[in-house]
Amino acid sequence: MTEILETTKKNLLKAAEAIRQNGLVAFPTETVYGLGGCAFSEKAIVKIFEVKKRPRFDPLIVHIAEKDDYKLLCSTIPSTAEKLIEAFCPGPLTLVLPKREKVPDIVTSGLDTVAVRMPSHPIALQLIQYSKCPIAAPSANRFGHVSPTRAEDVLSDLGDSVDFILDGGPTLVGVESTVVFVTEEEIILLRPGGIPIEDIEKVIGRVNIKRKMSKLLSPGLTKKHYSPKTPLYIYEGNLEELVKINRDDYALLTPAPLLVNDITIYPLSQAGDVKEIAANLFHQLRKLERMDYRAIIAIPVKQSGLGHAVMDRLIRASTGTVKIENQKFVFIDR
Ligand code: AMP
Ligand code: MG
Repeated sequence: MTEILETTKKNLLKAAEAIRQNGLVAFPTETVYGLGGCAFSEKAIVKIFEVKKRPRFDPLIVHIAEKDDYKLLCSTIPSTAEKLIEAFCPGPLTLVLPKREKVPDIVTSGLDTVAVRMPSHPIALQLIQYSKCPIAAPSANRFGHVSPTRAEDVLSDLGDSVDFILDGGPTLVGVESTVVFVTEEEIILLRPGGIPIEDIEKVIGRVNIKRKMSKLLSPGLTKKHYSPKTPLYIYEGNLEELVKINRDDYALLTPAPLLVNDITIYPLSQAGDVKEIAANLFHQLRKLERMDYRAIIAIPVKQSGLGHAVMDRLIRASTGTVKIENQKFVFIDR
C-alpha cells in the first residue's frame, strides 16, 4: 500500500524527488487533495489520467508557487486577469488563459488554453517549489467519485497507484476552486468554487461576467460527478412535511440542525454557516456512503456566495430530486 507521509521537510523533499522522476504524489491544497505530476512530463500526465480513470478530454489544472509563473505558462495575460491575480492569488481561483507551446497538449486536452492556479496551502506551495516545476493536479479521487478532503480518502480511492500521499489533515475550503475563462472584455464562469462570483464582481468593476457555464469552453463539466455510492436526491418541498414522514432508512443531509426531536439528521454545520457547510460536504458524503442508507436526501442550501459551489456539487452528486405526495416519497431520476 502507498505510504501516507507526515509533512516533514525530509518527506516533502522525497515527494518532490518522485515528481521529478515522473512519479505521482497526492498532496493537500486548501480546496481538496490533488493528484500531482510534473506539468511538463507527458509520462506523468498519462499516469494521472490512467490512475484516476479520467477521460482524456477533461483538461487538468496546473498549480504554481509564484504569481509570476502565470507568465511561464500563459502567452497572454489580459489586464482583467492581472486584477484577479492581484486580488485572489494565492487562493481557490483558477484562471483559464492562452497557453504557451511548452505546456503539453495532453495537459490541456488539446485546447489552446491552460487552467492555472496558485494554491495557498503551505504544503502545496513547498511541494511545487521543491519539485522545481509546475504541478498538474486534478482531485485525487477516482473519476466521478466524491473529491477527497483527507489523506485517507485518497488512499481508499487510489490505493497503490500513487508514490506518496502527503497528509495535511482536513482541507479548509472543502470544495474545488472557482474556474473562470478570462479575456480583456469578459469573464466566463466555468465552475463555481471556493471564491464566490460575487467577490470577483467586486474587484473587476465593469467587466462583463457570464455566469452561464459553457460545456464547449470547459469540456470536463459533466452533469453527474462527485457522486457518493449511495444515491442522493435533492429535496423539493417543505421541511415540516419531510420531518413528518421521515424514515430511518434514508439519511437526511441538512445545512443546519432542524428543531425536531426523534429523527436522525446529518447537519453540515451547527450554525448553518456556509463556509462550514462547504468544508464538511464531501467528508459527510463519504461517511454516509459507508452506512447502510437506501438514499441520501439533501436539503438545498441558499444560493449565494459559497452556496453556489455547494449547490453545484450537490446537484452533480445527485441521481435526481425527491418530493412528497400523499405522505410518501416520490423519487424522480434525472
Ligand atoms: P478538476 O481537475 O476535476 O478539479 O477539474 C478541472 C476543471 O477545470 C474541469 O472542469 C475542466 O474542464 C476545467 N479546465 C481545465 N483546463 C481547462 C481549459 N484549458 N479550458 C477550460 N476549462 C478547463
Ligand atoms: Mg475532480
